[in-house]
Amino acid sequence: CSTGAESLVPGSTIFALSSGQGRCAIAVIRTSGPASGLALRSLTALREPPPARSACLRLLRHPCSGEPLDRSLVLWFPGPQSFTGEDCMELHVHGGPAVVSGVLQALGSVPGLRPAKAGEFTRRAFAHGKLSLTEVEGLADLIHAETEAQRRQALRQLDGELSQLCQGWAKTLTKALAHVEAYIDFGEDDNLEEGVLEQVDRDVRALEVALSSHLRDARRGQRLRSGANVVVAGPPNAGKSSLVNLLSQKPVSIVSPEPGTTRDILETPVDLAGFPVLLSDTAGLREGAGAVEQEGVRRARQRLEQADIILGMLDASDLASSSSCSFLDTVVAPLVAQSHDSGRQRLLLLLNKSDLLSANAPASSTALPPHLLLSCHTGAGMDALLQALKTELAAVCGDPSTGPPLLTRARHQYHLQGCLDALGRFQLTTDLALAAEALRQARRQLSHLTGGGGTEEILDLIFQDFCVGK
Ligand code: GDP
Ligand code: ZN
Repeated sequence: CSTGAESLVPGSTIFALSSGQGRCAIAVIRTSGPASGLALRSLTALREPPPARSACLRLLRHPCSGEPLDRSLVLWFPGPQSFTGEDCMELHVHGGPAVVSGVLQALGSVPGLRPAKAGEFTRRAFAHGKLSLTEVEGLADLIHAETEAQRRQALRQLDGELSQLCQGWAKTLTKALAHVEAYIDFGEDDNLEEGVLEQVDRDVRALEVALSSHLRDARRGQRLRSGANVVVAGPPNAGKSSLVNLLSQKPVSIVSPEPGTTRDILETPVDLAGFPVLLSDTAGLREGAGAVEQEGVRRARQRLEQADIILGMLDASDLASSSSCSFLDTVVAPLVAQSHDSGRQRLLLLLNKSDLLSANAPASSTALPPHLLLSCHTGAGMDALLQALKTELAAVCGDPSTGPPLLTRARHQYHLQGCLDALGRFQLTTDLALAAEALRQARRQLSHLTGGGGTEEILDLIFQDFCVGK
């Protein structure tokens, strides 16, 4: 690849601590660039680099003073078969801060070496064609993954599933373009196969269908990356804050027998069944309260509009009260109607405080929509609630274990939409030159997605997500 690291940062070899900061048993320090071999020889007194990609134990010394620094594992990765594609060296040293700073200082004294900037190792890997841009994003996501589902998704993207998908689509477009261009040049020539253009048209239309279906799923991948919005709503005193505290396993919200305690929206990130969730506790929805509380109610309603999943909560022992009835009429009923129209259930209706019901007087009247009975005090019904939530979250975020690769960033969605728009301009019935241009534009969008011809600003933005040493 001609856009090598040399053109990125002239003649320089970088080094950094690649493992986490702070006291630990072992720290990994690495270098990348042409002077890696020199660095290795300077610190280990080895005349030749050790065998490639195998660990050997060496005493490290400061190249100037000869001062012993540590006994450490040394690994040599000659380019291009390395993470960055350049000569790389790894030192697995003891994790004490004095060892780490001593070795970093020693490396800094080797001619041609300088400290790496954030994300610079990965950027060099990208520049040498070792990773596509979507794979780089997968790597960034993997480093930041906090839940199981996020980890699975990131690993799949790092493995190149999304870029392979795009490359397959780009190949279809290249083939189509070749046929159309051949037709423009030799259209009258009867050597050309019959029906070629018809086949091109079928291929392009099939691609449109595939792109549309991935775009429909785009929201899910982004939810999986940034967290699904789950909102708890209900009349005052239903137990909303108790549920939020239970689900987040920490006291986020104030629980109080006094109605109207939660007046603003409280948000907390939680891991629910392996999915990342932004859980919001809202002010109790009731009319005729004071000004501050009314503002809380207004914000709660707004939050409901944006919610991926709504946990509607009622006090099972208080279903006949005016606040329960009003919540059922103004919030639950419209959501149920909506789900009939869209085919997707956004509401889970919960009847809390089941512990207050006497065994022979069940709360569930037949007039209520499907619901779950639970008690935040005894924990009854919580397993069923978590199971239901897991199903809903898999629908909202997509299941990262199965199914096609997800689009995890707005950037992916933007380029796929651009590709689809270009294909919409592909018409064989009009000017063939225009049709060919539409195919070229469509292909360019796919290439932007995987990092071909990407502008510097986009690259800067993506590599910002990395820390030094990555
Ligand atoms: P919110 O106003 O909807 O947020 O409700 P809170 O979580 O503040 O709870 C209101 C009151 O109901 C508090 O006194 C809680 O202790 C009580 N409460 C919450 N959940 C239960 C439950 O499952 N059973 C019983 N008996 N009381 C509950
Ligand atoms: Zn509350």
